[in-house]
Amino acid sequence: MSHSLGQVVFHVDIDAFFCQVEQRKNPQLGTKPFAVQQHQDIIAVNYAARQAGVKKHMSPAQAREVLKRVGGCLVHVHTVEGGRISYEPYRQAGREVLQLLQRNAWASVVEKGSIDEAYLLFTGGPALRVDLSPEAARQMAQSLRSQLWEQLQLKASVGIARNKTMSKLASAAAKPDGMLLALSPGEVQALLQRTPASRLPQAGGKDSTAFAKAGIQSVADLQSWSEQQLRQDLGFTRDRAAQLAQWARGECSAAVAVRPPPKSLSVQMSLTPVPLPMHPSFQGRSVCDDPSSTGMLQPVEVHAETFTRRMRMLLAAMTGDLMGRICADSHEEDRWPANMILALNISWPPKQNRFVNKTCRFPASTLSSHPPTAPSEVATAATTSSTSAEQAPLAPLHQAMLSNATSLCAAATQGAPPGAKVVQTRASVA
Ligand SMILES: [Mg+2]
Repeated sequence: MSHSLGQVVFHVDIDAFFCQVEQRKNPQLGTKPFAVQQHQDIIAVNYAARQAGVKKHMSPAQAREVLKRVGGCLVHVHTVEGGRISYEPYRQAGREVLQLLQRNAWASVVEKGSIDEAYLLFTGGPALRVDLSPEAARQMAQSLRSQLWEQLQLKASVGIARNKTMSKLASAAAKPDGMLLALSPGEVQALLQRTPASRLPQAGGKDSTAFAKAGIQSVADLQSWSEQQLRQDLGFTRDRAAQLAQWARGECSAAVAVRPPPKSLSVQMSLTPVPLPMHPSFQGRSVCDDPSSTGMLQPVEVHAETFTRRMRMLLAAMTGDLMGRICADSHEEDRWPANMILALNISWPPKQNRFVNKTCRFPASTLSSHPPTAPSEVATAATTSSTSAEQAPLAPLHQAMLSNATSLCAAATQGAPPGAKVVQTRASVA
């Protein structure tokens, strides 16, 4: 098993991340079994609830049934005014995790893996000719776990290996609240034996069906298949076969590196044909907060009297979310968007869908620090609105973004025939 002397990768992964963020918000949840619901889906399950048999993507009704029996509950994913889902608290927690990990000076690179995971690279050699002892590696991982718990009240698992993929498999095997070393050839082989092949990156769908057909259960089972057999007998492409064979040897050629920031930021909202029943914790405050009982998440008819007001509500929520991300991004990346794009998916009678994109310049960065006078159009609309969210004064940047988005929306729906409905909206900046 080849590896460069000294290189050790620590993969840090927060356990049941969405659940822990909810738990920080609501300490009364304590050690109760609970799961996080998003519309009619279960998107996160804490470990106590997993033990009771609750699984991701179960129907909320089924999950609630199981949880009731063990004194648990369902928690709805974070929502803002109007019942719209916002991931901002989770993104914020993710940023805190990354910032904490970056403060560990021994890590020469900290690569963000996803909202709640990161790879930390320790390079002791070959120049330094230092190889990390298993004991030292263990202490470093334990220190990361303690920092996350003491400073952020988040429990994490850490996988320690010679490369990225093995470290990720190790952290998955260490869950929850644990750590696993896969440094020696023996440790790596044990990890490959206990890891289902379907847990390899992007091996969930078609690949796992192929594995099942061929009787391949663990990653180690792949070792008896040559690259040629993987291609010819199991139908993998040349590249994929090579990658699977590499992983089966416990190797991985991907470097730990800081990824460039995304080129654009966007917020999307689908306006489902049927209003989705919400969790009882909403206590009657459903997604419908319009007195005429037009659900906020229902398609918006272009020629309806309420069109302008309903679109404004949607756009206010979306631009508000986007604004939070732009401000965080400008702080982290020292940049400011040049353009704002509004994309609408319009159901266009008789039987068509049209995608319309409209672009304008993004408000100047000075708006965030020097408030301009409110655009008159926004001020007028605000006085006629019925929701408390719109009565609250908007930040100057939010006002400018909303004003732009409203104009783009008017341009995008111009000329729409009677019966046309907006079924999806996406606001992005680049
Ligand atoms: Mg995680």
